[in-house]
Amino acid sequence: MTTVLPSPFDGKEIWFLTGSQDLYGEETLAQVAEQSQQVAAWLDEAEAVPVRIVWKPVLKERDSIRTAMLQANADPSCIGIIAWMHTFSPAKMWILGIDALRKPLLQLHTQFAAELPWATLDMDYMNLNQAAHGDREFGYILSRLGQPRKIVVGHATQPATRAKVATWARAAAGWDALHHTRLVRFGDNMRNVAVTEGDKTEAELRLGVCVNTWGVNDLVDVVDAVSEQEVEALIAEYLEAYDVVPELRPGGERHASLRYGARIEAGMRRFLKEHDATAFTTNFEDLGGLRQLPGLAVQRLMADGYGFGAEGDWKTAILVRAAKVMGHGLPGGASLMEDYCYEMTEGKEKILGAHMLEVCPSLTRSRPRLEIHPLGIGDREDPVRLVFDADTGPGVVVAMSDMRERFRLTANVVEVVGPDAPLPALPVARAVWEPAPDFHTSTECWMLSGAAHHTVMSTATTLETWQDLAEMAQMELAVIDEGTTTRGFAQERRLNQAYYRLTQGA
Ligand code: MN
Repeated sequence: MTTVLPSPFDGKEIWFLTGSQDLYGEETLAQVAEQSQQVAAWLDEAEAVPVRIVWKPVLKERDSIRTAMLQANADPSCIGIIAWMHTFSPAKMWILGIDALRKPLLQLHTQFAAELPWATLDMDYMNLNQAAHGDREFGYILSRLGQPRKIVVGHATQPATRAKVATWARAAAGWDALHHTRLVRFGDNMRNVAVTEGDKTEAELRLGVCVNTWGVNDLVDVVDAVSEQEVEALIAEYLEAYDVVPELRPGGERHASLRYGARIEAGMRRFLKEHDATAFTTNFEDLGGLRQLPGLAVQRLMADGYGFGAEGDWKTAILVRAAKVMGHGLPGGASLMEDYCYEMTEGKEKILGAHMLEVCPSLTRSRPRLEIHPLGIGDREDPVRLVFDADTGPGVVVAMSDMRERFRLTANVVEVVGPDAPLPALPVARAVWEPAPDFHTSTECWMLSGAAHHTVMSTATTLETWQDLAEMAQMELAVIDEGTTTRGFAQERRLNQAYYRLTQGA
């Protein structure tokens, strides 16, 4: 009965547009068409690129350029445009098209052949292969128009080029998915918390996400209506996928608690499906007739690709959903995370992240344990939950803050290192990491940025993925990585404050 979200890449494509002009004559333009098809094919066949790259006829004048952009805007399968000026394409021809474009843009700076034919190089060859200045002309008009884009330089057969295109394509899929995201909030935000608040109306304009609230008892009605067969099917899945503690197994003394956990899961899945939602929030202060705080259910929904935020934190739920899409099919995972406590011993500094229950098992390849423990918070029956340690390796944590007139993203590059010793008494899933560039600089900058205690932790995406997404959203991304100093970071924030007030004032 488990409903799994469809692949976010299914049916999506990126259009490959080639610029030229009529000056060169038919023979040259035929070569431009043939060679640009090959460049598009090289990217399309690259295993790293998750969506189809679709070549379009060579563009030579302003009306067809504008038409191509309007078609890209209107076609729901098109999630972005790659543009390459094979020859010189006078860029005033592109002004109206670029001005109309509403899809993400990648400026590919490449040549058909990587190697110059030094011995035979003549003016014919030079005429055909002029991206070196054709793309500069194009770059000028894009910069003059303030057009957001990613610039990728390199040959289309080179892995580094393909990796950059692939990362951008993933960000474009994330951007597209956000514009189809309906986010269900079960109840409102946790009372008096500042950072989880925000402008939901502005979020729909800036990120495309539709955020709405339902009374939690609307969910309770669905949970109560779940059939015993549905519960039974989920119990079988749990027994297959997890090490279920004996007291929760069929015949165990607390098996009824697991059945109720399964009932919550089945009910949430139905509710989200009925509302066409791919992200949601809960709040322990607002559980209505739910007998347990949803733990296992939330963990398993996140593992299937749903975005989630706790305590009504819809902004983090958006980030989790974006991370799920952008990292789809890659090793690693994404989860709601909360900076919980520190190892502060000098030289051993680490951050321990967890939540009261809801950390996504996509962060581990190990077999989680399915357990039950008391939880005072929420004032309900003991909730069932998956317990595990996140796998070690590189990752990124990202938070979104509402800075009144705009949103700010803050990203920290981290290395998940695991705990210094086993954590036998900790009854929740967790990740332990070392933040870049070091514990002190990271935490200073994080707080200076006004970044939240809730984040998405992603071990499938990289900082570059989030940079590409932030560029598409025209949203500030405050980066804390190996090159960060507190002084430089503080100065960047001050400059960006002015920049975003000027550019987003309208
Ligand atoms: Mn929390």
